[in-house]
Amino acid sequence: MDCIFCKIVTGEISSKKIFEDELCLAFYDTAPAAPVHALVIPKQHVSSVLEADDEGLLGHLLSVARDIAKSEGLSESGFRLVINTGKDGGQSVNHLHIHILGGRSLAWPPG
Ligand code: 5GP
Ligand code: ZN
Repeated sequence: MDCIFCKIVTGEISSKKIFEDELCLAFYDTAPAAPVHALVIPKQHVSSVLEADDEGLLGHLLSVARDIAKSEGLSESGFRLVINTGKDGGQSVNHLHIHILGGRSLAWPPG
């Protein structure tokens, strides 16, 4: 399948890895939108949160994202976890991913 994030999972495309286990992979975003910008993805291809039917996997991704925010030192300052979905959500890679953003004050609502 021609999916950038599947290629990151196999190593065909390199990434700056933060964490990996049997279910997921976390790495830094190549176009950081904040001083800390990481992504957590399932190793198995899931197109978006709409197609994610495994509650256990969803919970695991969220828990790993939270742990990465902590290990990146964002607990005190705060951070944001984001799942862009579909056209209006601004999803540009059709492989489920949670953004971990922090290290600066983030505007709300998003543009
Ligand atoms: P989306 O816009 O789909 O919510 O987020 C996709 C994210 O993936 C973007 O923040 C983009 O910078 C990041 N991205 C796209 N291609 C690559 C890549 O090859 N490597 C890494 N590390 N991040 C990527
Ligand atoms: Zn994929």
